[in-house]
Amino acid sequence: MELSVIVPVYNEADNIAPLLGRLIPVLEGLGLPASRTSGHASWEIIFVNDGSRDATLARIQEAHQKEPRVGVIAFSRNFGKEVAIAAGLDYARGRGVVIMDADLQHPPETIAEFVAKWREGFVMVYAQRTDRVNETAIKRGFARLFYRLFRAFGEMPLPEGAGDFRLIDRRGVDALRAMGERARFSKGLYAWVGFSSVGVPFVVADRAHGVTKWSFRKLFRFAFDGITSFSTIPLKIWTYAGLAISLASIATALYFLIRTMLLGSDLPGYPSLIVSVMFFSGIQLMSLGMIGEYVGRIFAEVKRRPLYIVAESLVPAGGTEGAEA
Ligand code: UDP
Ligand code: MG
Repeated sequence: MELSVIVPVYNEADNIAPLLGRLIPVLEGLGLPASRTSGHASWEIIFVNDGSRDATLARIQEAHQKEPRVGVIAFSRNFGKEVAIAAGLDYARGRGVVIMDADLQHPPETIAEFVAKWREGFVMVYAQRTDRVNETAIKRGFARLFYRLFRAFGEMPLPEGAGDFRLIDRRGVDALRAMGERARFSKGLYAWVGFSSVGVPFVVADRAHGVTKWSFRKLFRFAFDGITSFSTIPLKIWTYAGLAISLASIATALYFLIRTMLLGSDLPGYPSLIVSVMFFSGIQLMSLGMIGEYVGRIFAEVKRRPLYIVAESLVPAGGTEGAEA
């Protein structure tokens, strides 16, 4: 198997046919070697149905009847896009694996450019969005803040504007699959595995059908996961903050002591007492919260639950070579 395309889908029924209508001609035009068994060009499209509640699965099954190189892995419920990508990587049999969205925001034609770079020898070829014009100013602002924070605190920088739309060579795929993390922040994982990588500029199109599955809350959670998965700064910073505050409070105590000795006692310090109690309980709660975040993460890792559960699957035709799931 030469090329696998994995597409996480969650309630994308109306997008399946339009996507395949554009994607299949692109794949056929790549000049991929023919499969030994079928004689057809050696590619497969694997949809990962992330617990869709609409007709997505039925649409994919229909597509499989027409084009057996289209297959699907259906989760037993919604596990989230990150996990769907992880499953896709597990099932993909290609020497190269493309990850893309189903809503045609990722133009399939870009795959031809990916493959050209891949043939030059790059292990990671990622699409790099040149603009964020069709997003709200708030979303753009938060995206910029996130990249800045990640650059300051993360283990390694993230290429800006690079998302999940990319081609990964088998070597990179195997490296990613070897990372057994539960909190899968794939942007961070891609950067962490390293290898030679190159960006291909592209313009994000508008969503073809349906609505975005990312609420503001989900995005915030995603960014938070990203930073806490790839940095321990939020955990460590409280040690220094605590130390600084303690030193400051000793200085304050000394100031009051000397003042009382020189000028005598004035009003008992009721307001300052209340203010400092509030201030310190705030700090304590925040630091406890941070520790909780990490402890929670340790808990999730330690449970060793499977990352996802497959309810049913239709393996795409072709490719007797490679791992069969
Ligand atoms: N998706 C998924 N599971 C989810 C949410 C989204 O598999 O829980 C898929 C979705 O079907 C789409 C892709 O991830 O193919 C990107 O989602 P979406 O277009 O909603 O995100 P956006 O483009 O707005 O960032
Ligand atoms: Mg989208």
